[in-house]
Amino acid sequence: MKAPLQKLEDGLLQEQGVTLWVKREDLLHPQISGNKWRKLKYNLQEAGQQGHHSLLTFGGAYSNHIAATAAAGKEYGFHTIGIIRGEEHLPLNPTLSFATSCGMQLHYISREEYRHKSDPAFLDELQEKYGKAYLLPEGGTNLLAVKGCTEIVADMPVAFSHICCAMGTGGTLAGIVAGLAGDKAILGFPALKGGDFLRQEVEELVQAYCGKSYSNWQLVTQYHFGGYAKVKPELLHFMQQFKEQHHIQLEPIYTGKMMYGLFDLIRQGHFPRGSRIVAVHTGGLQGNAGFAQRLGVQV
Ligand SMILES: *Cc1c(COP(=O)(O)O)cnc(C)c1O
Repeated sequence: MKAPLQKLEDGLLQEQGVTLWVKREDLLHPQISGNKWRKLKYNLQEAGQQGHHSLLTFGGAYSNHIAATAAAGKEYGFHTIGIIRGEEHLPLNPTLSFATSCGMQLHYISREEYRHKSDPAFLDELQEKYGKAYLLPEGGTNLLAVKGCTEIVADMPVAFSHICCAMGTGGTLAGIVAGLAGDKAILGFPALKGGDFLRQEVEELVQAYCGKSYSNWQLVTQYHFGGYAKVKPELLHFMQQFKEQHHIQLEPIYTGKMMYGLFDLIRQGHFPRGSRIVAVHTGGLQGNAGFAQRLGVQV
């Protein structure tokens, strides 16, 4: 599984003396997108080895992980069950309609119940209702997901000094940190407000996976645009311009915010001249149709 690196040509980069590549994880697979594919890979193997025929997982109504799990189940022969936060809205939005078309069985639970998504008793209850299944946590983050994400930085075809990645649960960043094992400078851009808690999450995942910590990574917490799935006109404008100039589609929840933040840091001279930066495009473009519908904006 290899994602190409695309070098960007931009006056700002020249002015600041930095080189920037986008790692096109969004091109890994047409339906099992980007980091969600990396996170599923070893979990699918494990589910098969354990003799499971079903995958059960959790997510919001626009979740990239729900869409990816549904598509992966279809492709690799697993029945899939999606436990969706909140009430059913018909017609189904594009994400859930896609998941259903892949054969995913959807069940809705209240926000209150959803808080128990990691409680063993609740997980037992779900399996009594819907049958025994291999459990994938929300966002797909577990240690096998971290293992899959270490491969984002395996065999990189260029020498680089910095790597940047958007964050939700922090599983992908943990994989990058583990994969680089102390090498390079790593910047994680939380897509949500108050992303400081992710320091602890990443630390714990890296410790559990590597048996040690690394200090060559940091969080850039100021580019959340008001919170998870919140946007501002300047973000949408930036994404539009970025697409026109570089022919790369971003999405507003994760990669748009990361790229906006990265360009802002470059503009501020945060990176020394000669820096060679890789920005990871973690995919997730399936969400754009639903996002545009919901907010009545173009993305
Ligand atoms: C889920 C997702 C992320 C966040 O990944 P985590 O491992 O949860 O931090 C980033 N970008 C995109 C496009 C995603 O779908």
